[in-house]
Amino acid sequence: MDKIIYMDNAATTSTGRAALDAMIPVLEKDYGNPSSLHQLGQQAADLLADARKRIASSIGAQPDEIYFTSGGTEADNWAITQIARAGAEKGKKHIISTAFEHHAVLHTLKRLEKSGFTVTLLDVHKDGIVRVDELKAAIRPDTCLVTVMYANNEIGTIQPIAEIGAVCREHGIPFHTDAVQAAGHLPIDVQKENIDLLSMSAHKFHGPKGIGALYCRRGIRLTNFIEGGAQERGKRGGTENLPAICGMAAALEDACKGMDERAKRVSGMRDRIIDGIVQNIPHVLVNGDREKRLPGNVNICFEGIEGESLLLRLDLEGICASSGSACTSGSLDPSHVLLAIGLPKEVAHGSLRLTLDEENTEQEVDYLLKVLPGIVSGLRDMSPVWEEMMAAEK
Ligand SMILES: *Cc1c(COP(=O)(O)O)cnc(C)c1O
Repeated sequence: MDKIIYMDNAATTSTGRAALDAMIPVLEKDYGNPSSLHQLGQQAADLLADARKRIASSIGAQPDEIYFTSGGTEADNWAITQIARAGAEKGKKHIISTAFEHHAVLHTLKRLEKSGFTVTLLDVHKDGIVRVDELKAAIRPDTCLVTVMYANNEIGTIQPIAEIGAVCREHGIPFHTDAVQAAGHLPIDVQKENIDLLSMSAHKFHGPKGIGALYCRRGIRLTNFIEGGAQERGKRGGTENLPAICGMAAALEDACKGMDERAKRVSGMRDRIIDGIVQNIPHVLVNGDREKRLPGNVNICFEGIEGESLLLRLDLEGICASSGSACTSGSLDPSHVLLAIGLPKEVAHGSLRLTLDEENTEQEVDYLLKVLPGIVSGLRDMSPVWEEMMAAEK
């Protein structure tokens, strides 16, 4: 194949037609500053208000509950640090999260721990799913925040968000979810699911990079994150990135339209890949629950080989994949997500993540399944770890 086969949609997605069509005119002619009082400014302000409204309605929120950010990382940082600060003012310095959050969450929590917060990380078990009774047991009188991701970016597992939301509501604890992998891919309703704060990022649903949003329910006290002008109700100063915001709104709307049908088609390809690998390659391990997972996520460990060398070989075949999260590649540590689901280090090193979406085709799946077994056995033939495993089996 001479065409690139892109199967790394959890890292980022292509910029979709809907986003481009919305952005280009804004870049070309709607360059006004939404804070300006003249007509060009007001035109920009109208576009901003319209985008905010459309993004809000796609998750069941109100426009004044949406704050634009530079992406998922910023939304996570904002939600967690500012809710923690409000908690500390009331003497509450305990936070509950999980061991397999994105680093935008985990590293923010680490910093809070250094300033005197206590963090309880819930177990995500072998299937990659949090248990609600364990959350209940972890709640303390001084718990000021629960933050649990909607769907995991490496193994794709979907968490019982509505149940977690109900528990948090019952205890009066603000509930934040990093929904960067879920927005535009799964139906989200912040009302029904009792979500108080939610992070999303446009480039994970065919929008532009560098733009995201934090939803914060009315009545939850969100302190200012970036001091400056009156943008985002004074909580996040700085002239709005209007072209990106318009692209994000269009992309999210497009992603929500026909979501079910698209998910069906994509999960069909996902299952064909998983079944094809399990049936044709020995000593593999499917990571994460097979049912409660994102439509496009495949995550498999191949015993006896390094995920990184597998990636390089796939790349030579034109297939773009990942061994885990894009943020941890380049480091030699095995994925914290795979360790959190209890995999031994040496197995976690042999992981492959393929994340599909509606742009992938059945032909691409065929091609992947055709080349993968040969690549894996070729790498195993050169692997001393594999040789040892085989000798031990005899
Ligand atoms: C990609 C991702 C982020 C970071 O979003 P950016 O917009 O790239 O900052 C955060 N959380 C999860 C689960 C992600 O997949």
